[in-house]
Parts: sequence; structure tokens; C-alpha cells
Amino acid sequence: MTQLSNTATWTQRPLVRMAQRIGFEPANVDYFVEKLNPVWSLLNLRATVVNVREETHDTKSFELQPNMHWQGISAGQHVGVNVEINGVTHKRRYSLSRAEAVNADESKTIQITVKRVEGGLVSNHLHDHIQAGDVIGLEAADGDFVLPAELPNSLLVLTAGSGITPVFSQVATLLNEGYQGSIEFLHYVRSPADRIFGEQLEALAQQYSNLSVQWCFEAAEGQSKPERFSAKQLAKRVADYQERNAMLCGPAGFMEAVREHWADIGRSDALAFEYFGAPPVDATDAIDANITLKTGKQIQLNAGETLLDSLLENGPNLTADELPKYGCKRGVCHECKCRKTSGAVKNLLTGKVTAGEEDIQLCISAPVSDVTLG
Ligand SMILES: Cc1cc2nc3c(=O)[nH]c(=O)nc-3n(C[C@H](O)[C@H](O)[C@H](O)COP(=O)(O)OP(=O)(O)OC[C@H]3O[C@@H](n4cnc5c(N)ncnc54)[C@H](O)[C@@H]3O)c2cc1C
Repeated sequence: MTQLSNTATWTQRPLVRMAQRIGFEPANVDYFVEKLNPVWSLLNLRATVVNVREETHDTKSFELQPNMHWQGISAGQHVGVNVEINGVTHKRRYSLSRAEAVNADESKTIQITVKRVEGGLVSNHLHDHIQAGDVIGLEAADGDFVLPAELPNSLLVLTAGSGITPVFSQVATLLNEGYQGSIEFLHYVRSPADRIFGEQLEALAQQYSNLSVQWCFEAAEGQSKPERFSAKQLAKRVADYQERNAMLCGPAGFMEAVREHWADIGRSDALAFEYFGAPPVDATDAIDANITLKTGKQIQLNAGETLLDSLLENGPNLTADELPKYGCKRGVCHECKCRKTSGAVKNLLTGKVTAGEEDIQLCISAPVSDVTLG
């Protein structure tokens, strides 16, 4: 475990200063202390994996014990996970996936839950190679998908697939802390076997009379057709859904359908949500564009793609130098930062369009003209 990317935080500065005062470079100290225990570091946030649990056939939870640099996390937030695969460090974000005190600095361990992604590098590496006792690199908690200071009277939860993780964490936290409002929790999932936290949610619903859990399956025994989100389907499940504050997380298509409906009923303000990737490109902005790479090679970007999507899609035709580095695909980790020498892009997080020479994050940049990358 050799990831050395985090900058010093307040917890470590005194130690860093002490090392420097007695004539040691902190990085050299790290070189020796990590031989004694790989989770120890003067400079970097790391965690020991203390437990790995199978949640479903393709999903595992990892309980992590961070080192002294950990500064806490709130339910709904995510952490960066750095793993080394064939000598290269790869970064991804994973949401916290269990109840957490809102002020979690003193908590001993945290939990993330990872669903395998077909062809995915890090999710499969975590599943196949990471076990209790291993040490992984972490990056500090981030994210504004957190519980509001003033809690609403009633909640509607809409999740699909691995999108259940941050919302499960929030709901379990709320219930632990004595929330009395009614919670309707709807999880859209392929089949009963794919339910992440199925048993935990059912147990919570038994324990707390204000929580009701409903599963909406694509396919299940005795079910004649898939049950997918629609206004009509939701109204059947939760008659008063328009009066509730809603929380949403899942695949982009599912989230777009829900967000569109909330906009139609004029309730967008009552919908909190988290994307596991960049927000989709607005249909009105989406254009096909020519992307010229530093090497002069040109690729065609299809309307609706980010620059990163397009480069990855063209991966087989690109050399190792032309393939970008990337991490969170959400604008958090800056791994995919790149120089743009000409053209205009829209930042999908801020909605700002900028042109000319500048640094951009490929994962959250959608071109609004042809673009040249430097
Ligand atoms: C805020 C946030 C929270 C998240 N929380 C969770 C969570 O709680 N649980 C969870 O499971 N996930 C979560 N994610 C998603 C997670 O970060 C990863 O994106 C996910 O695990 C996939 O990573 P990977 O490395 O396995 O896949 P990647 O290697 O990034 O690949 C993703 C897809 O792109 C394709 N691809 C990659 N490279 C190429 C290429 N060169 N050419 C063509 N196709 C390519 C792969 O085949 C795959 O289908 C979260 C993401 C964010 C941003």
C-alpha cells in the first residue's frame, strides 16, 4: 500500500512538524513506519479492512477502521477509496452504508458497500482481492447529500440498485436517533435475490412502526410484468407521495424519470438526490463534437456524452498515453483534470459554459463545440 496523495490535515500537522524539527522528512518516516504497520502514516489517510460481508451474490460490505487522519463523516456522504492494481493507483468514491452519528468523528469503524460492475476495475478488485486485514488508501468524506438540520414530517425514499447505500445510511441514522415521522421506503431492484440490505430493512421495519418498506421488482415469482417507476405506479404504492419530502439515489435513467416527475408536479425543492456519476447532459445542450487529442488524433463524441465517457468509449483505439486517468467520475477527485486548448465545454455540476484555454475535469465536462485537449 503505497498511496501517498493526501495533503496534511490538522490532526497530523504537529507530528509532521515534529518529524521535520528532528530532521526527518515525513515521507521517509512513513517509509519506515508503514513497514511496522501498513495503516500507520504521518501523511496519509488509510484504513484497515476489519470485516468483509456478502450482502448479495454481487454486493459486499467492507467495514473499515481508518487511521488517525480520519475526520468523520455524516450519513449520506461518501469516501474516496484508493487501491493499487498492477502498480497503478485507482480512485473511486463509495457512500457510507450504515447508520452513522451525524458527528461521526469518534466512531471506530465505517462501512462501505460495493456492487460489482461488469468490466469495472475497482469494484471487481475489491470483491476479488480485498479481505479482512488488508489496508487500503482512503480520501476524506465529501458530499452534500446529508440529512437536513430541520427534519421534515414525513419522507419518501426512492432507491434502485446500489443507490440504496447512502439513503439506507440516512434512514438507519434517523431511526436510531428517534425520528418519529413516517418513512415510506421504495427500492426498485431486479429480483428478490438482488435486494441489498433486504433483511436489515425488514428488521428495521419490524422494529420501527414509522418505517414501511416496499420492494418493486423487475421480475419475481408470480409477478406477471416488471414493476418500474412511473407516476401511476408510485401513486398506487404511496397515495400521499406528493406531500412527502423525497430522497433519491440510483442509476441515472431511473433518477431522471423521478426528477422529471417531481419537476412536473412542482416539487423539485422537496427532492434530495445523489448521483453516482456526473449528472446527465441536458438534451438541449447535447451535441456531437470532434475531439482532438494532444497527439493530433481525432475522436467523435456522441451527443449526451461527457469528454471522459467519449474517451473511455474510444479506449480500444487509443494508446496508453491518450487514455485519461480518472477516478470518481463525479468531479470530486480531480484525477481526470486535463488542459483544454480550444473549444467550449459545459461544467455539468455548475452549469457554467467556459471557452478557450483552461484546465477542465473530463468527467463533468460536456462539449458545446469542437474541443482540443492539450
Ligand atoms: C458519490 C458516489 C458514491 C458512490 N457510492 C457507491 C456505493 O455506495 N456503492 C457502489 O457500488 N458504487 C458506488 N459508486 C460508484 C463507484 O464509485 C464506482 O464508479 C463503481 O464501483 C464502478 O467502478 P469500477 O472501477 O468497478 O468501474 P470502472 O472501471 O470505472 O468502469 C465503469 C464502467 O465503465 C466501463 N469502462 C471502463 N473503462 C473503459 C474503457 N476503457 N472502455 C470502455 N468501457 C470502459 C466498464 O466496463 C464499466 O462498465 C459511487 C460513486 C459516486 C460518484
